[in-house]
Amino acid sequence: MTWIDYKHIKASVNILQVLGYYGIELQRVGGRHLKGVCPLPGHSGDRSNTNAFHVDTEKNAFNCFTHCGGGNVIALP
Ligand SMILES: [Zn+2]
Repeated sequence: MTWIDYKHIKASVNILQVLGYYGIELQRVGGRHLKGVCPLPGHSGDRSNTNAFHVDTEKNAFNCFTHCGGGNVIALP
């Protein structure tokens, strides 16, 4: 059995690097916050809503305000 240290992964992977890998474009809205179209596969709302998906680069976390809720790097596809 292999144990995975999620804390370590979260600390070492930048959420912007992950989003960039998937080609997700976000708009900086000041300071550590960015927003853009929700890239999550389970998203059932408007795919063109550029205000749906918010990223906090300090917390290394995201939040979809329309359907998906929040999470961190590990929850990304
Ligand atoms: Zn969403």
